[in-house]
Amino acid sequence: MSQDVRVAPGFINGDVSFWMRDIGLPTQRASLAGDIEVDVAIVGGGLTGLWTAYYLTKAQPELEIAIVEKYFAGFGASGRNGGWMSAEPAGQFRRYAAAHGAESARAMQREMFTAVDEVVTVAQQEGFAEDLVKDGLIHVATNGPQLARARAHLDELREQGWGKDDVFELGVDDLRERVNVHGMRGGYWTPHCARVHPAKFTRGLAAVVEALGVTIYEGTTAESIAPRAVRTDHGTVRAKYVVQALEGYTHSLPRQERRLLPMNSSMIVTERLTEQQLDAIGWRGAELVGDMAHGFTYMQRTADGRVALGGRAVPYDFNSSFDERGRTADRSVGMLSKRLGEVFPALRNVQIDHSWSGVLGVPRDWCAAVNFDRDAGILSAGGYVGHGLSGTNLAARTLRDLILGEQTDLVRLPWVGRTARNWEPEPLRWIGATALYAVYRAADGRENHSQSGKTDVLARAANVISGR
Ligand SMILES: Cc1cc2nc3c(=O)[nH]c(=O)nc-3n(C[C@H](O)[C@H](O)[C@H](O)COP(=O)(O)OP(=O)(O)OC[C@H]3O[C@@H](n4cnc5c(N)ncnc54)[C@H](O)[C@@H]3O)c2cc1C
Repeated sequence: MSQDVRVAPGFINGDVSFWMRDIGLPTQRASLAGDIEVDVAIVGGGLTGLWTAYYLTKAQPELEIAIVEKYFAGFGASGRNGGWMSAEPAGQFRRYAAAHGAESARAMQREMFTAVDEVVTVAQQEGFAEDLVKDGLIHVATNGPQLARARAHLDELREQGWGKDDVFELGVDDLRERVNVHGMRGGYWTPHCARVHPAKFTRGLAAVVEALGVTIYEGTTAESIAPRAVRTDHGTVRAKYVVQALEGYTHSLPRQERRLLPMNSSMIVTERLTEQQLDAIGWRGAELVGDMAHGFTYMQRTADGRVALGGRAVPYDFNSSFDERGRTADRSVGMLSKRLGEVFPALRNVQIDHSWSGVLGVPRDWCAAVNFDRDAGILSAGGYVGHGLSGTNLAARTLRDLILGEQTDLVRLPWVGRTARNWEPEPLRWIGATALYAVYRAADGRENHSQSGKTDVLARAANVISGR
């Protein structure tokens, strides 16, 4: 570990996430014990799988539903993320609009607003809303090009259907009332975002789903998915419908190696901050905070008074490999700690209690999709590109309607039936992803010294190449 990083005694690197350690790693539920037959088999015990089971069983309690999960519910991104339950679109408006028209893309945006409120309401009703607070989301610009991008983004949001009460531009003084980011020049706030403790939330939803009669088989790995059947290392699950809910782990199934790129996102969390430190950073509410850099830093002030900060330090490892338990390269921990000190100089000497990583699934066109092969009875959802906390809820309600054959507005959304081309084979995939993020980092550095209000030419070129 770099000498600049001050780790706390008992510092943990990996072991799933700070959130899981905070509530204690669970005892694994029973594995599948031989072949079974059910109505719906769900592969993956993250939020896509759990929400799908929740809505299906609420709609038709007599359905027999089984979830197969390799480790335990919430082991993947759903139990490790930054806890931003935001309404930002799980994909790119312009691409949905190009394929289905602007009104269809706006309908998708409206559903994302609804998804945030739906999640908050259900979590409160079902009793797993601990630490969940809807205080909104702030984006802060700290240089001229970032400020110009923030303003241009506000214009785009207006075109995408964000009304006057959905997002507010903030000047430096308005920002300072909520958070004191070093060098801030302006930004915006939207009320459509809730802070989540990912492990409490996911474990709570899993318990609710189980109490409703869904069986969760843990320690059970799906080896392949075929029409109306999931073959696992503990037997075969035959089902009328199979829902693939693996997001960042999709590449582990045969013939799906290049469908979604497993993008690493890494996080650190500080020790509990003192009152003086909290005063210095001026962050007392539960707003989520992010920057406008190309490398993108996301932060949460946790309910117990820490700062959790994440970013794409080393975004992709060769051949889609990654440490499943979340161990994070020292270099990444160093980069994130340095970023924490840049954002909040008062926290430069704070101790880091935990670092961890996880993977989210990125499609080649950066647009999430919900798919249904009716003949094979196979459905899938994922590719939320960092907006999975609310995206999984919207996807799950859509999967429910597709399975039940309901002709609702949800099944007409532009992400239904969307396919992207595969990612390039190795080593091109690794070279491309690594080079791209190096360029974004260089562009961020150059923008810090830029006198103009224009996005750096390197980043503009990288956006064209990456399709972002
Ligand atoms: C560090 C990090 C920060 C993030 N921050 C945010 C954020 O702040 N806001 C936001 O909206 N999104 C965020 N995301 C993305 C978001 O967490 C995901 O998009 C979302 O949780 C995906 O849920 P899922 O259920 O589709 O996949 P996952 O939660 O990854 O679930 C997939 C499950 O499948 C299991 N599995 C894997 N292989 C197999 C197999 N062969 N057989 C059976 N089971 C298998 C895994 O163990 C896992 O539990 C973040 C992601 C990461 C990694």
